[in-house]
Amino acid sequence: MRTDKKPRCPYCILGAEFRVMRVLGNGRQICEHCGHIIFPQDRAFRCPCQECVEVHFALKNASFFSIRPRFAGVYHEPGKKRGRARKG
Ligand SMILES: [Zn+2]
Ligand SMILES: [Zn+2]
Repeated sequence: MRTDKKPRCPYCILGAEFRVMRVLGNGRQICEHCGHIIFPQDRAFRCPCQECVEVHFALKNASFFSIRPRFAGVYHEPGKKRGRARKG
């Protein structure tokens, strides 16, 4: 098992894994693909990249937009997997 502590962009997938982000000297981590920025030292920092803005906006206005209508036919609800989860 390798210890991979590299930060990865949650939005960009490269091959089978998430794209590795570039770490800047001031502790910032930035995805060179989509511009996603993480600033671990500042929890209040809000990433201005397109993806985060979209997510933030979608959360705030969840019922405002009908998201991606073209996928309506093949849309799978996230979190619901086949098979039963046992409890107890
Ligand atoms: Zn990215
Ligand atoms: Zn972002």
